[in-house]
Amino acid sequence: MSFIDRNPVVGLERQTIYFPEQLLLTYEGRTWNNAEFFAEVREQATALHAAEVKPGDRVVYLGLNSVSFMRTMFACWWLGAVFVPLNFRLAPREIAGLLEQSAPRVLLVEPGHLETIETMLGYPDVEIGDMVLLLIDDDHAIENPSAIDAPWTPASTWIAEHVADAADPAVQGADEDDLAILMFTSGTTGKPKGVELSYGNIWWNSVNVDSLVDTRRGDTNLAVAPLFHIGGLNALTIRVMVRGGHVVVRRTFDPRQALKDIEEYQVNQAFLVPAMLSAMAQTDEFADSKIESLRALICAGAPVPTILLRQYQAKGVEVQQAWGLTETAPFATYLPAELTHQRPGSCGVPMPFTQIKVVDPLTSIDVEESGQTGELWVKGPNVTRRYWNNPKATEDAFSDGWFRSGDIGYRDADGFLYVVDRLKDMIITGGENVYPAEVERALMEYPGALDVAVVGVADDQWGEAVVAVLSCVDGTVPSIEDVREFSAGLLARYKLPKRLILTGSVPRNGSGKLDKAAVRLLANKTLEVK
Ligand code: ATP
Repeated sequence: MSFIDRNPVVGLERQTIYFPEQLLLTYEGRTWNNAEFFAEVREQATALHAAEVKPGDRVVYLGLNSVSFMRTMFACWWLGAVFVPLNFRLAPREIAGLLEQSAPRVLLVEPGHLETIETMLGYPDVEIGDMVLLLIDDDHAIENPSAIDAPWTPASTWIAEHVADAADPAVQGADEDDLAILMFTSGTTGKPKGVELSYGNIWWNSVNVDSLVDTRRGDTNLAVAPLFHIGGLNALTIRVMVRGGHVVVRRTFDPRQALKDIEEYQVNQAFLVPAMLSAMAQTDEFADSKIESLRALICAGAPVPTILLRQYQAKGVEVQQAWGLTETAPFATYLPAELTHQRPGSCGVPMPFTQIKVVDPLTSIDVEESGQTGELWVKGPNVTRRYWNNPKATEDAFSDGWFRSGDIGYRDADGFLYVVDRLKDMIITGGENVYPAEVERALMEYPGALDVAVVGVADDQWGEAVVAVLSCVDGTVPSIEDVREFSAGLLARYKLPKRLILTGSVPRNGSGKLDKAAVRLLANKTLEVK
Protein backbone atom coordinates (compact mmCIF):
# COMPACT_ATOMS: atom_id res chain seq x y z
CA MET A 1 0.00 0.00 0.00
CA SER A 2 1.24 3.45 -0.74
CA PHE A 3 2.29 5.59 2.21
CA ILE A 4 -0.49 7.44 4.04
CA ASP A 5 0.77 9.87 6.63
CA ARG A 6 -0.90 9.13 9.97
CA ASN A 7 0.91 11.81 11.94
CA PRO A 8 -1.59 13.75 14.13
CA VAL A 9 0.73 16.78 13.80
CA VAL A 10 -0.45 17.05 10.20
CA GLY A 11 -4.08 17.17 11.34
CA LEU A 12 -3.21 19.90 13.82
CA GLU A 13 -1.30 21.83 11.18
CA ARG A 14 -4.25 21.72 8.77
CA GLN A 15 -6.66 22.94 11.44
CA THR A 16 -4.21 25.77 12.10
CA ILE A 17 -4.13 26.70 8.42
CA TYR A 18 -7.92 26.65 8.09
CA PHE A 19 -8.84 28.16 11.44
CA PRO A 20 -5.80 29.76 13.14
CA GLU A 21 -7.93 31.75 15.58
CA GLN A 22 -10.15 28.91 16.66
CA LEU A 23 -10.06 28.02 20.34
CA LEU A 24 -8.21 24.74 20.85
CA LEU A 25 -7.38 24.48 24.56
CA THR A 26 -8.63 25.90 27.81
CA TYR A 27 -6.39 25.06 30.72
CA GLU A 28 -7.01 26.31 34.23
CA GLY A 29 -8.33 29.66 32.98
CA ARG A 30 -5.84 30.19 30.10
CA THR A 31 -6.70 29.62 26.47
CA TRP A 32 -4.78 28.67 23.33
CA ASN A 33 -6.05 28.99 19.79
CA ASN A 34 -4.82 26.65 17.04
CA ALA A 35 -2.08 29.01 15.88
CA GLU A 36 -0.76 29.64 19.41
CA PHE A 37 -0.58 26.01 20.35
CA PHE A 38 0.89 24.96 17.02
CA ALA A 39 3.63 27.58 17.34
CA GLU A 40 4.53 26.27 20.80
CA VAL A 41 4.63 22.69 19.52
CA ARG A 42 6.93 23.78 16.71
CA GLU A 43 9.21 25.53 19.16
CA GLN A 44 9.49 22.53 21.42
CA ALA A 45 10.04 20.21 18.45
CA THR A 46 12.80 22.52 17.21
CA ALA A 47 14.50 22.41 20.60
CA LEU A 48 14.29 18.62 20.83
CA HIS A 49 15.67 18.39 17.30
CA ALA A 50 18.52 20.74 18.14
CA ALA A 51 19.29 18.46 21.09
CA GLU A 52 19.50 15.60 18.60
CA VAL A 53 16.37 13.74 19.59
CA LYS A 54 15.90 11.32 16.69
CA PRO A 55 12.97 9.31 15.33
CA GLY A 56 12.34 6.38 17.67
CA ASP A 57 14.00 8.07 20.68
CA ARG A 58 11.89 8.05 23.81
CA VAL A 59 10.81 11.14 25.73
CA VAL A 60 9.36 10.45 29.17
CA TYR A 61 6.81 12.79 30.74
CA LEU A 62 5.89 12.76 34.43
CA GLY A 63 3.22 15.21 35.43
CA LEU A 64 -0.45 15.94 35.85
CA ASN A 65 -2.76 16.83 32.97
CA SER A 66 -1.56 20.04 31.35
CA VAL A 67 -0.96 21.86 28.10
CA SER A 68 2.70 21.08 28.52
CA PHE A 69 1.79 17.37 28.39
CA MET A 70 -0.06 17.88 25.08
CA ARG A 71 2.69 20.08 23.65
CA THR A 72 5.44 17.59 24.51
CA MET A 73 3.47 14.77 22.90
CA PHE A 74 2.90 16.63 19.62
CA ALA A 75 6.51 17.85 19.63
CA CYS A 76 7.69 14.24 19.90
CA TRP A 77 5.50 13.22 16.97
CA TRP A 78 6.79 16.15 14.92
CA LEU A 79 10.19 14.42 15.06
CA GLY A 80 8.99 10.82 15.04
CA ALA A 81 10.11 10.43 18.67
CA VAL A 82 8.14 8.19 21.03
CA PHE A 83 6.11 9.85 23.77
CA VAL A 84 6.16 7.93 27.09
CA PRO A 85 3.71 9.32 29.68
CA LEU A 86 4.15 7.87 33.15
CA ASN A 87 1.66 7.50 35.94
CA PHE A 88 2.57 10.27 38.37
CA ARG A 89 1.39 8.21 41.32
CA LEU A 90 4.16 5.66 40.93
CA ALA A 91 6.77 5.18 43.63
CA PRO A 92 10.47 5.90 42.98
CA ARG A 93 11.33 2.20 42.59
CA GLU A 94 8.53 1.70 40.06
CA ILE A 95 9.63 4.73 38.05
CA ALA A 96 13.21 3.44 38.07
CA GLY A 97 11.94 0.22 36.48
CA LEU A 98 10.06 2.07 33.75
CA LEU A 99 13.02 4.34 32.97
CA GLU A 100 15.22 1.32 32.70
CA GLN A 101 12.74 -0.30 30.33
CA SER A 102 12.20 2.75 28.15
CA ALA A 103 15.74 4.23 28.25
CA PRO A 104 14.65 7.77 27.32
CA ARG A 105 16.78 10.55 25.84
CA VAL A 106 14.78 13.20 27.69
CA LEU A 107 12.91 13.13 30.99
CA LEU A 108 10.45 15.92 31.77
CA VAL A 109 9.21 16.18 35.34
CA GLU A 110 6.82 18.57 37.04
CA PRO A 111 8.20 20.19 40.21
CA GLY A 112 5.59 18.34 42.29
CA HIS A 113 7.22 15.03 41.36
CA LEU A 114 10.82 16.11 41.66
CA GLU A 115 11.21 14.58 45.09
CA THR A 116 10.14 11.16 43.80
CA ILE A 117 12.65 11.41 40.98
CA GLU A 118 15.42 12.69 43.22
CA THR A 119 14.86 9.70 45.52
CA MET A 120 15.04 7.45 42.49
CA LEU A 121 18.21 9.09 41.19
CA GLY A 122 19.79 8.35 44.56
CA TYR A 123 19.49 4.59 44.03
CA PRO A 124 22.93 3.14 43.30
CA ASP A 125 21.62 1.03 40.41
CA VAL A 126 19.94 3.93 38.58
CA GLU A 127 22.00 5.42 35.79
CA ILE A 128 20.91 8.45 33.84
CA GLY A 129 23.81 8.55 31.36
CA ASP A 130 23.31 11.49 28.98
CA MET A 131 19.57 11.72 29.62
CA VAL A 132 18.41 15.37 29.46
CA LEU A 133 16.60 16.22 32.72
CA LEU A 134 14.03 19.00 32.38
CA LEU A 135 11.84 20.54 35.02
CA ILE A 136 8.49 21.53 33.56
CA ASP A 137 8.08 25.18 34.47
CA ASP A 138 5.89 26.87 31.91
CA ASP A 139 2.36 26.03 32.97
CA HIS A 140 3.19 26.00 36.67
CA ALA A 141 6.00 28.41 37.14
CA ILE A 142 8.86 27.43 39.38
CA GLU A 143 9.11 30.19 41.92
CA ASN A 144 12.82 30.69 41.70
CA PRO A 145 14.39 29.11 38.60
CA SER A 146 17.90 30.14 39.64
CA ALA A 147 17.57 28.00 42.76
CA ILE A 148 17.26 24.88 40.65
CA ASP A 149 20.27 22.66 40.98
CA ALA A 150 21.99 20.76 38.24
CA PRO A 151 21.35 18.30 36.67
CA TRP A 152 17.92 19.91 36.27
CA THR A 153 17.17 22.66 33.76
CA PRO A 154 13.85 24.53 33.61
CA ALA A 155 12.19 23.33 30.38
CA SER A 156 11.40 26.83 29.10
CA THR A 157 15.01 27.98 29.52
CA TRP A 158 16.24 24.85 27.80
CA ILE A 159 13.82 25.27 24.91
CA ALA A 160 14.72 28.95 24.48
CA GLU A 161 18.44 28.11 24.41
CA HIS A 162 17.99 25.34 21.90
CA VAL A 163 15.74 27.18 19.46
CA ALA A 164 18.04 30.17 19.12
CA ASP A 165 19.63 29.88 15.65
CA ALA A 166 18.02 26.47 15.03
CA ALA A 167 15.98 25.90 11.88
CA ASP A 168 12.52 24.31 12.19
CA PRO A 169 12.69 20.59 11.49
CA ALA A 170 10.31 19.07 8.92
CA VAL A 171 7.34 17.13 10.29
CA GLN A 172 8.28 13.46 10.17
CA GLY A 173 5.99 11.27 8.06
CA ALA A 174 4.36 8.61 10.24
CA ASP A 175 3.56 5.21 8.81
CA GLU A 176 0.80 2.94 10.14
CA ASP A 177 3.20 0.79 12.17
CA ASP A 178 5.54 3.50 13.45
CA LEU A 179 5.62 3.79 17.22
CA ALA A 180 3.87 6.90 18.59
CA ILE A 181 3.30 6.20 22.30
CA LEU A 182 4.76 3.77 24.75
CA MET A 183 2.21 3.36 27.50
CA PHE A 184 2.73 1.21 30.53
CA THR A 185 -0.33 -0.65 31.76
CA SER A 186 -1.31 0.21 35.27
CA GLY A 187 0.04 -3.00 36.68
CA THR A 188 -3.16 -4.15 38.37
CA THR A 189 -2.28 -7.56 36.91
CA GLY A 190 1.41 -7.54 37.83
CA LYS A 191 4.57 -5.92 36.54
CA PRO A 192 3.82 -3.05 34.11
CA LYS A 193 4.23 -3.91 30.45
CA GLY A 194 5.00 -1.26 27.86
CA VAL A 195 2.22 -1.30 25.29
CA GLU A 196 3.44 -0.14 21.88
CA LEU A 197 0.82 2.15 20.36
CA SER A 198 1.45 2.96 16.74
CA TYR A 199 0.20 5.91 14.71
CA GLY A 200 -2.10 3.39 13.04
CA ASN A 201 -3.58 2.33 16.40
CA ILE A 202 -4.34 5.95 17.27
CA TRP A 203 -5.73 6.60 13.81
CA TRP A 204 -8.03 3.57 13.75
CA ASN A 205 -9.43 4.34 17.17
CA SER A 206 -10.47 7.70 15.71
CA VAL A 207 -12.02 6.07 12.67
CA ASN A 208 -13.95 3.73 14.95
CA VAL A 209 -15.17 6.69 17.01
CA ASP A 210 -16.08 8.64 13.86
CA SER A 211 -18.23 5.77 12.67
CA LEU A 212 -20.33 5.33 15.80
CA VAL A 213 -20.07 8.12 18.33
CA ASP A 214 -22.10 11.31 17.90
CA THR A 215 -19.22 13.81 17.78
CA ARG A 216 -18.91 16.91 15.60
CA ARG A 217 -16.29 19.41 14.47
CA GLY A 218 -16.19 22.22 17.00
CA ASP A 219 -17.21 19.94 19.88
CA THR A 220 -15.89 20.70 23.34
CA ASN A 221 -14.24 17.85 25.17
CA LEU A 222 -13.55 17.70 28.89
CA ALA A 223 -10.15 16.14 29.67
CA VAL A 224 -10.16 15.36 33.38
CA ALA A 225 -9.33 11.66 33.33
CA PRO A 226 -5.55 11.21 33.66
CA LEU A 227 -3.90 11.77 30.29
CA PHE A 228 -1.23 9.17 31.03
CA HIS A 229 -3.99 6.56 30.67
CA ILE A 230 -5.22 5.62 27.25
CA GLY A 231 -8.84 6.41 28.16
CA GLY A 232 -8.04 10.00 29.11
CA LEU A 233 -5.69 10.47 26.19
CA ASN A 234 -6.93 8.65 23.14
CA ALA A 235 -10.56 7.69 23.73
CA LEU A 236 -11.55 11.15 22.52
CA THR A 237 -8.97 13.80 23.37
CA ILE A 238 -6.23 13.47 20.72
CA ARG A 239 -8.92 12.94 18.14
CA VAL A 240 -10.84 16.12 18.98
CA MET A 241 -7.61 18.17 18.88
CA VAL A 242 -6.87 17.21 15.28
CA ARG A 243 -10.49 17.48 14.18
CA GLY A 244 -11.17 21.09 14.95
CA GLY A 245 -12.46 20.72 18.50
CA HIS A 246 -11.85 22.43 21.81
CA VAL A 247 -10.44 20.63 24.86
CA VAL A 248 -10.96 21.84 28.40
CA VAL A 249 -8.01 20.41 30.33
CA ARG A 250 -7.99 20.16 34.09
CA ARG A 251 -4.91 19.13 36.02
CA THR A 252 -6.90 16.65 38.06
CA PHE A 253 -10.48 15.57 38.44
CA ASP A 254 -12.67 17.43 40.88
CA PRO A 255 -16.36 16.43 40.74
CA ARG A 256 -17.76 19.90 41.47
CA GLN A 257 -15.40 21.61 39.06
CA ALA A 258 -16.24 19.05 36.38
CA LEU A 259 -19.97 19.78 36.73
CA LYS A 260 -19.24 23.52 36.55
CA ASP A 261 -17.03 23.08 33.48
CA ILE A 262 -19.65 21.05 31.65
CA GLU A 263 -22.14 23.83 32.17
CA GLU A 264 -19.81 26.76 31.54
CA TYR A 265 -18.12 25.39 28.42
CA GLN A 266 -21.16 23.49 27.15
CA VAL A 267 -19.10 20.32 27.02
CA ASN A 268 -20.31 17.82 24.42
CA GLN A 269 -17.96 14.91 24.94
CA ALA A 270 -16.07 13.36 27.81
CA PHE A 271 -14.45 10.10 28.72
CA LEU A 272 -14.90 9.30 32.40
CA VAL A 273 -14.48 6.22 34.56
CA PRO A 274 -17.41 5.06 36.74
CA ALA A 275 -15.80 6.35 39.95
CA MET A 276 -15.82 9.87 38.46
CA LEU A 277 -19.47 9.66 37.38
CA SER A 278 -20.32 8.45 40.84
CA ALA A 279 -18.36 11.24 42.58
CA MET A 280 -20.17 13.83 40.46
CA ALA A 281 -23.57 12.28 41.20
CA GLN A 282 -22.83 12.40 44.94
CA THR A 283 -22.23 16.16 45.06
CA ASP A 284 -24.95 18.51 46.31
CA GLU A 285 -24.58 20.43 43.07
CA PHE A 286 -25.53 17.46 40.87
CA ALA A 287 -29.30 17.91 41.28
CA ASP A 288 -29.30 21.47 39.89
CA SER A 289 -26.47 21.10 37.40
CA LYS A 290 -27.24 21.50 33.70
CA ILE A 291 -25.27 18.86 31.87
CA GLU A 292 -27.51 17.97 28.95
CA SER A 293 -24.99 19.42 26.47
CA LEU A 294 -23.11 16.11 26.95
CA ARG A 295 -23.83 14.14 23.77
CA ALA A 296 -20.98 11.68 24.02
CA LEU A 297 -20.47 10.81 27.68
CA ILE A 298 -18.45 7.65 27.44
CA CYS A 299 -17.67 5.55 30.45
CA ALA A 300 -15.32 2.58 30.61
CA GLY A 301 -12.50 1.12 32.63
CA ALA A 302 -14.76 -0.74 35.04
CA PRO A 303 -18.39 -1.88 35.13
CA VAL A 304 -20.86 0.99 35.33
CA PRO A 305 -23.48 0.38 38.05
CA THR A 306 -27.02 0.65 36.65
CA ILE A 307 -27.96 3.09 39.37
CA LEU A 308 -25.48 5.55 37.86
CA LEU A 309 -26.92 5.10 34.39
CA ARG A 310 -30.32 5.96 35.83
CA GLN A 311 -29.07 9.02 37.73
CA TYR A 312 -27.64 10.49 34.53
CA GLN A 313 -30.65 9.51 32.43
CA ALA A 314 -32.80 11.49 34.86
CA LYS A 315 -30.71 14.53 33.90
CA GLY A 316 -31.15 13.94 30.18
CA VAL A 317 -27.75 12.34 29.61
CA GLU A 318 -27.15 8.82 28.35
CA VAL A 319 -23.98 7.30 29.75
CA GLN A 320 -22.52 5.28 26.89
CA GLN A 321 -20.60 2.25 28.02
CA ALA A 322 -17.54 1.06 26.23
CA TRP A 323 -15.00 -1.65 26.84
CA GLY A 324 -11.35 -1.67 25.95
CA LEU A 325 -7.78 -1.76 27.16
CA THR A 326 -4.56 0.14 26.66
CA GLU A 327 -3.74 -2.57 24.13
CA THR A 328 -6.83 -1.72 22.04
CA ALA A 329 -6.09 2.04 22.01
CA PRO A 330 -8.69 1.90 23.74
CA PHE A 331 -12.13 1.24 22.19
CA ALA A 332 -12.99 -2.36 21.39
CA THR A 333 -16.75 -2.06 21.97
CA TYR A 334 -19.25 0.75 22.40
CA LEU A 335 -22.96 1.08 23.15
CA PRO A 336 -24.47 4.07 21.35
CA ALA A 337 -26.72 6.41 23.33
CA GLU A 338 -29.82 5.28 21.40
CA LEU A 339 -29.39 1.72 22.67
CA THR A 340 -28.55 2.26 26.32
CA HIS A 341 -32.19 1.73 27.40
CA GLN A 342 -32.54 -1.48 25.45
CA ARG A 343 -29.33 -3.07 26.71
CA PRO A 344 -28.63 -1.96 30.26
CA GLY A 345 -25.32 -3.33 31.46
CA SER A 346 -24.01 -4.13 28.00
CA CYS A 347 -20.75 -2.60 26.83
CA GLY A 348 -22.10 -2.72 23.29
CA VAL A 349 -20.99 -4.28 20.06
CA PRO A 350 -17.50 -4.41 18.58
CA MET A 351 -16.38 -1.13 17.04
CA PRO A 352 -16.86 -1.09 13.25
CA PHE A 353 -13.26 -1.93 12.34
CA THR A 354 -12.63 -4.27 15.26
CA GLN A 355 -13.55 -7.92 15.69
CA ILE A 356 -14.24 -9.73 18.93
CA LYS A 357 -14.79 -13.37 19.69
CA VAL A 358 -15.62 -15.22 22.88
CA VAL A 359 -13.23 -18.09 23.46
CA ASP A 360 -12.89 -20.84 26.02
CA PRO A 361 -9.61 -19.77 27.66
CA LEU A 362 -8.57 -23.34 28.41
CA THR A 363 -9.19 -24.95 25.01
CA SER A 364 -9.05 -21.83 22.79
CA ILE A 365 -12.24 -23.08 21.10
CA ASP A 366 -14.78 -20.43 20.11
CA VAL A 367 -17.85 -20.18 22.33
CA GLU A 368 -20.73 -20.12 19.84
CA GLU A 369 -23.67 -20.14 22.23
CA SER A 370 -25.09 -16.83 23.40
CA GLY A 371 -25.04 -16.34 27.15
CA GLN A 372 -22.01 -18.63 27.59
CA THR A 373 -19.00 -16.94 29.11
CA GLY A 374 -15.49 -17.06 27.75
CA GLU A 375 -12.43 -14.85 27.31
CA LEU A 376 -12.85 -11.88 24.96
CA TRP A 377 -10.33 -11.93 22.11
CA VAL A 378 -9.84 -8.86 19.95
CA LYS A 379 -8.46 -8.25 16.46
CA GLY A 380 -8.23 -5.05 14.45
CA PRO A 381 -6.03 -2.19 13.30
CA ASN A 382 -6.49 -0.45 16.66
CA VAL A 383 -4.86 -3.35 18.54
CA THR A 384 -1.20 -3.08 19.56
CA ARG A 385 1.24 -5.32 17.74
CA ARG A 386 3.51 -6.04 20.66
CA TYR A 387 4.79 -5.20 24.11
CA TRP A 388 7.97 -3.19 24.28
CA ASN A 389 11.05 -5.43 24.51
CA ASN A 390 8.97 -8.26 25.89
CA PRO A 391 8.60 -11.12 23.39
CA LYS A 392 7.39 -13.48 26.13
CA ALA A 393 4.49 -11.20 27.11
CA THR A 394 3.68 -10.65 23.43
CA GLU A 395 3.63 -14.36 22.74
CA ASP A 396 1.39 -15.03 25.75
CA ALA A 397 -1.03 -12.27 24.79
CA PHE A 398 -1.58 -13.22 21.15
CA SER A 399 -3.01 -16.29 19.52
CA ASP A 400 -3.35 -16.51 15.73
CA GLY A 401 -3.37 -12.74 15.41
CA TRP A 402 -6.02 -12.36 18.14
CA PHE A 403 -5.27 -10.40 21.30
CA ARG A 404 -6.34 -12.24 24.43
CA SER A 405 -7.82 -9.54 26.63
CA GLY A 406 -7.86 -11.50 29.91
CA ASP A 407 -11.45 -10.35 30.42
CA ILE A 408 -14.37 -12.73 30.70
CA GLY A 409 -17.62 -11.90 28.97
CA TYR A 410 -20.46 -13.16 26.84
CA ARG A 411 -22.69 -12.18 23.92
CA ASP A 412 -26.46 -12.06 24.05
CA ALA A 413 -28.57 -13.53 21.24
CA ASP A 414 -28.28 -10.26 19.26
CA GLY A 415 -24.51 -10.06 19.56
CA PHE A 416 -24.32 -7.44 22.33
CA LEU A 417 -21.40 -7.98 24.66
CA TYR A 418 -21.32 -8.05 28.43
CA VAL A 419 -18.09 -7.95 30.41
CA VAL A 420 -18.27 -10.19 33.46
CA ASP A 421 -14.87 -9.91 35.10
CA ARG A 422 -11.19 -10.45 34.71
CA LEU A 423 -10.15 -14.02 34.21
CA LYS A 424 -7.53 -13.78 36.92
CA ASP A 425 -9.95 -12.33 39.47
CA MET A 426 -12.33 -15.28 39.21
CA ILE A 427 -12.84 -17.02 42.55
CA ILE A 428 -13.17 -20.81 42.69
CA THR A 429 -15.06 -21.71 45.82
CA GLY A 430 -16.17 -25.26 46.51
CA GLY A 431 -15.54 -26.03 42.82
CA GLU A 432 -17.89 -23.26 41.62
CA ASN A 433 -16.71 -20.23 39.61
CA VAL A 434 -17.66 -16.88 41.09
CA TYR A 435 -17.07 -13.63 39.24
CA PRO A 436 -16.44 -10.92 41.86
CA ALA A 437 -17.91 -8.20 39.63
CA GLU A 438 -21.30 -9.89 39.76
CA VAL A 439 -21.23 -10.02 43.57
CA GLU A 440 -19.99 -6.42 43.72
CA ARG A 441 -22.92 -5.30 41.55
CA ALA A 442 -25.38 -6.99 43.91
CA LEU A 443 -23.77 -5.57 47.05
CA MET A 444 -23.77 -2.04 45.65
CA GLU A 445 -27.58 -2.25 45.92
CA TYR A 446 -27.28 -2.68 49.71
CA PRO A 447 -28.91 0.36 51.33
CA GLY A 448 -26.13 2.72 52.41
CA ALA A 449 -23.38 0.97 50.43
CA LEU A 450 -20.83 3.43 49.05
CA ASP A 451 -18.23 1.15 47.50
CA VAL A 452 -17.43 -2.51 47.49
CA ALA A 453 -14.80 -4.98 46.36
CA VAL A 454 -15.01 -8.74 46.39
CA VAL A 455 -11.99 -11.05 46.43
CA GLY A 456 -11.22 -14.68 47.13
CA VAL A 457 -9.02 -15.63 50.08
CA ALA A 458 -7.54 -19.05 50.76
CA ASP A 459 -9.90 -21.21 52.78
CA ASP A 460 -9.34 -24.73 54.13
CA GLN A 461 -12.88 -25.82 53.55
CA TRP A 462 -13.77 -24.10 50.25
CA GLY A 463 -10.43 -23.69 48.54
CA GLU A 464 -11.22 -20.00 48.28
CA ALA A 465 -13.83 -18.06 50.22
CA VAL A 466 -15.74 -15.07 48.86
CA VAL A 467 -14.85 -12.01 50.93
CA ALA A 468 -16.57 -8.63 50.61
CA VAL A 469 -14.83 -5.40 51.54
CA LEU A 470 -17.51 -2.77 51.97
CA SER A 471 -17.68 0.92 52.76
CA CYS A 472 -20.99 2.45 53.81
CA VAL A 473 -22.45 5.83 54.63
CA ASP A 474 -22.01 6.92 58.25
CA GLY A 475 -24.29 5.06 60.61
CA THR A 476 -24.72 1.96 58.43
CA VAL A 477 -22.86 -0.96 60.01
CA PRO A 478 -24.10 -4.19 58.49
CA SER A 479 -23.09 -7.64 59.73
CA ILE A 480 -22.18 -10.52 57.43
CA GLU A 481 -25.63 -11.99 58.16
CA ASP A 482 -27.33 -8.75 57.04
CA VAL A 483 -25.38 -8.71 53.82
CA ARG A 484 -26.01 -12.40 53.11
CA GLU A 485 -29.69 -12.04 53.79
CA PHE A 486 -29.93 -9.01 51.54
CA SER A 487 -28.08 -10.60 48.63
CA ALA A 488 -29.70 -14.04 48.95
CA GLY A 489 -32.47 -12.87 46.63
CA LEU A 490 -29.97 -11.58 44.07
CA LEU A 491 -27.26 -14.23 43.96
CA ALA A 492 -26.89 -17.99 44.09
CA ARG A 493 -25.94 -19.28 47.54
CA TYR A 494 -22.36 -20.18 46.67
CA LYS A 495 -21.72 -16.61 45.49
CA LEU A 496 -22.74 -15.00 48.80
CA PRO A 497 -19.83 -13.55 50.78
CA LYS A 498 -18.59 -15.74 53.62
CA ARG A 499 -16.75 -12.89 55.31
CA LEU A 500 -17.37 -9.18 55.47
CA ILE A 501 -14.81 -6.46 56.11
CA LEU A 502 -16.05 -2.94 56.73
CA THR A 503 -13.68 -0.18 55.74
CA GLY A 504 -13.66 3.60 55.42
CA SER A 505 -12.66 3.44 51.77
CA VAL A 506 -12.19 0.59 49.35
CA PRO A 507 -8.74 0.65 47.68
CA ARG A 508 -8.87 1.98 44.12
CA ASN A 509 -6.01 2.98 41.83
CA GLY A 510 -5.41 6.25 40.00
CA SER A 511 -7.93 5.54 37.28
CA GLY A 512 -10.64 4.59 39.74
CA LYS A 513 -10.32 0.84 39.21
CA LEU A 514 -10.52 -1.47 42.17
CA ASP A 515 -7.00 -2.24 43.28
CA LYS A 516 -7.54 -5.95 43.80
CA ALA A 517 -4.00 -6.55 45.04
CA ALA A 518 -4.51 -3.98 47.81
CA VAL A 519 -7.98 -5.35 48.56
CA ARG A 520 -6.58 -8.88 48.89
CA LEU A 521 -3.85 -7.60 51.18
CA LEU A 522 -6.40 -5.79 53.31
CA ALA A 523 -8.65 -8.86 53.41
CA ASN A 524 -5.84 -11.22 54.34
CA LYS A 525 -4.45 -8.91 57.01
CA THR A 526 -7.84 -8.24 58.59
CA LEU A 527 -8.83 -11.89 58.60
CA GLU A 528 -5.45 -12.95 60.02
CA VAL A 529 -5.86 -10.53 62.92
CA LYS A 530 -9.32 -11.89 63.67
P1 ATP B 1 -3.20 -4.01 33.87
O1 ATP B 1 -3.43 -4.51 32.49
O2 ATP B 1 -1.77 -3.79 34.19
O3 ATP B 1 -3.90 -4.84 34.88
P2 ATP B 1 -5.34 -2.18 33.65
O4 ATP B 1 -6.17 -3.37 33.46
O5 ATP B 1 -5.85 -1.15 34.57
O6 ATP B 1 -3.85 -2.60 33.99
P3 ATP B 1 -6.17 -0.82 31.29
O7 ATP B 1 -5.76 -1.14 29.92
O8 ATP B 1 -6.17 0.61 31.70
O9 ATP B 1 -5.18 -1.59 32.20
O10 ATP B 1 -7.63 -1.34 31.60
C1 ATP B 1 -8.28 -2.34 30.86
C2 ATP B 1 -9.19 -3.16 31.73
O11 ATP B 1 -10.24 -2.35 32.29
C3 ATP B 1 -9.91 -4.23 30.96
O12 ATP B 1 -9.12 -5.37 30.77
C4 ATP B 1 -11.13 -4.50 31.85
O13 ATP B 1 -10.83 -5.44 32.86
C5 ATP B 1 -11.42 -3.15 32.47
N1 ATP B 1 -12.56 -2.54 31.75
C6 ATP B 1 -12.52 -1.65 30.75
N2 ATP B 1 -13.76 -1.32 30.35
C7 ATP B 1 -14.62 -2.03 31.10
C8 ATP B 1 -16.05 -2.15 31.15
N3 ATP B 1 -16.85 -1.44 30.37
N4 ATP B 1 -16.58 -3.00 32.05
C9 ATP B 1 -15.79 -3.74 32.86
N5 ATP B 1 -14.44 -3.67 32.87
C10 ATP B 1 -13.86 -2.83 32.00
